[in-house]
Amino acid sequence: MAQHTVALIPGDGIGLETSTAMRRVVEASGADIEWEVVEAGAHTIDECGTPLPESTIEAVRRNKVAIKGPVSTPVGKGFRSVNVALRQRLDLYACLRPVLSLPGAGGRYEGVDLVIVRENSEDLYAGIEFEEGSAETAELISFCERAGAGAIRPDSGISIKPVSVTATRNIVRYAFDYAVKHGRSKVTAVHKANIMKHTDGLFLRVAREVAEEYAGRIGFEDRIIDAFCMNMVIDPTQFDVVVFPNLYGDIASDLGAGLVGGLGIAPGANIGSECAVFEAVHGSAPDIAGKNIANPTAEILSAAMMLDHLGEPACAARIRDAVRAVYGAGRVLTADIRRTTGSTRAAAGCSEFADALIAEMTA
Ligand code: NAD
Repeated sequence: MAQHTVALIPGDGIGLETSTAMRRVVEASGADIEWEVVEAGAHTIDECGTPLPESTIEAVRRNKVAIKGPVSTPVGKGFRSVNVALRQRLDLYACLRPVLSLPGAGGRYEGVDLVIVRENSEDLYAGIEFEEGSAETAELISFCERAGAGAIRPDSGISIKPVSVTATRNIVRYAFDYAVKHGRSKVTAVHKANIMKHTDGLFLRVAREVAEEYAGRIGFEDRIIDAFCMNMVIDPTQFDVVVFPNLYGDIASDLGAGLVGGLGIAPGANIGSECAVFEAVHGSAPDIAGKNIANPTAEILSAAMMLDHLGEPACAARIRDAVRAVYGAGRVLTADIRRTTGSTRAAAGCSEFADALIAEMTA
């Protein structure tokens, strides 16, 4: 029997390619894992009537650990996000996204080493929405008028932005505990409390309260989201652990990825009290899917985070060392990195990149 069992959700789009590469690399690292492959995405609708089958949720619950490829969400119509549903159903309240310089990956800065901690369950990202012209929307518009909350045009769609004390306290505590555990010195809370006083204002107030509990051990500061974006572009090395409400954290993750080499190298994890689901920051990249040109590094580094979580730090280190060595050598680079570095070498495919990591680990 294998030492660990892990649910593997390949997803769709480039997930099919990056998951295969990830699995080969993890196996070459020496980790003893039995994979339970389960499905999610539009392709399961015909067979199961849903893009997120109960059997998939059950498999993640049973294994407690999963790694997931991206799943496409139709824009503006169709089913709601499988990713959001999975995070909500499994109470994966914390999203962890390291932003780390990788020499040779064409990042715009050296020495970036910050961690994005994103609230994962509420905010505008919860997808609580009312369609333009619906009876519910009309009722909400009339309620806002009666409450003197402001006029809303009758031809509006409405999204609700819930931000609770409970979820904020949980995520800010998670950020501080992460800082303590990983020897980091500062937490920055990002918000727009000057404009959204009852949501972002609440987030800031609770963050300040939690920061008091860690005073003297971990520093604390706050930034307004627009200023944070500018400061990230000017000098991302000034940040350490950065905690966000859901939507800003999502956007800041791509910003951070872009500063250190792109989505192709940005890993992540969704953590709950019972289960953890590891996944890259990027989506299913339909523009390049099925061509064996996607960069699997982000999913492979997500797997390294998973191996740490499983208590296999040596296997995780073997993978990270191999990633650093292959990027450092600069001979085998996927097309996205070839663009950011300006390299003129022929681009390696997704599978060739995995071959290079495996060769590095087994040399
Ligand atoms: P995306 O991340 O899929 O792609 C953005 C750009 O980055 C594209 O040009 C793509 O080619 C490139 N890119 C992304 N990952 C790459 C990789 N590994 N290697 C090389 N290039 C890469 O974002 P999008 O186009 O906005 O979204 C596409 C779909 O993915 C949508 O349906 C969206 O809902 C979904 N999505 C899923 C997740 C998830 O499952 N966690 C996250 C984000 C988006």
